[in-house]
Amino acid sequence: MTSQYYCKTIATTDPVDSYYAAKNERADNIPEANSTRTKRGIGEHTKYWAPGKTLKVLVCTYDEHSFQAVKNAANKWLPYVNLKFDFFEMEEEDIYQSEEFLGDIRVDFNPLYDGSGSSKLGTDSLTGSPHQASMVLGTDFSSDRFEFRGVHEFGHALGLQHEHQHPDAGIPFDREKTYTYFGHLGFTRTDVETNVFAFERVPGRTYEPYDSQSVMHYSIPDSITMGDWSHAGNTQISAGDIAFMRKIYP
Ligand SMILES: [Zn+2]
Repeated sequence: MTSQYYCKTIATTDPVDSYYAAKNERADNIPEANSTRTKRGIGEHTKYWAPGKTLKVLVCTYDEHSFQAVKNAANKWLPYVNLKFDFFEMEEEDIYQSEEFLGDIRVDFNPLYDGSGSSKLGTDSLTGSPHQASMVLGTDFSSDRFEFRGVHEFGHALGLQHEHQHPDAGIPFDREKTYTYFGHLGFTRTDVETNVFAFERVPGRTYEPYDSQSVMHYSIPDSITMGDWSHAGNTQISAGDIAFMRKIYP
C-alpha cells in the first residue's frame, strides 16, 4: 500500500515580507552572501524559527476532535526540536477581531483538504493577513492517515521543504506526464514546478544528504517517471528528519 499524499505549500507572494519575517526571527536565516540585496533581488533564505522559542499555535474551532488531532500531529516533532508549542483554540469570528498575528502558526480545517493539506514554510507563516490560516488540514480526523499528514504539514511549518525536491533526489520525472498527473489533482504547472520538481542547488546553503525515508517525501508513481522508478511515500518521521531538525533547532 502506498501512502499517496500530495500537499501544496502556501507560497508567500511577497518575497520582501518573507525576507524580513525570516531575518527578524533569526539572523542566520539569511546567508551572509545575501545580507546585502543584489540585483537578483531577495536571495534564497531559510525560514527557521528561533531556537528555544515557544510557538503559539492557534487552532480554529472546528469540532470535538480537531484540536487534539492537531496537537497529536505537531507533538510528534517535539522530542527533536528545541521549540515548544503553546496550542490554543479560537472561534473564527474572534480571530477577526484582532489585527495582530494571534498565532505564529494558524491552523484551519476544510473538508476539501481531506486526504491532503497545505502550509506556509516556517517564518512565512508571519506574512500576509493575520486573519489567514498558515496551515489548512482536512477534517478526516478519524482516518489513520490524518496524523501523518499533520506531521508533514508541521514539518513545513517548522521550515522543512519537500524532500523529493532535494537537488540530489535525482528522480527521473517524465515532465509532461508529471504535469498531466498532478493536473488531475488540481495542481497548476507552477504548482508542479514549486512542489514536485527538484530545486536547484543554491550556493551558500548547506544541505543534508537526500533522504528517501523522509516524511517530507511524496509518493511517486512509476507512471510519471522514465524507466523504472517509483516511491511508496513515507508515513513516519525518519532518522534523517530527526537529524535535520536537531541541527536547525539545537
Ligand atoms: Zn508538503
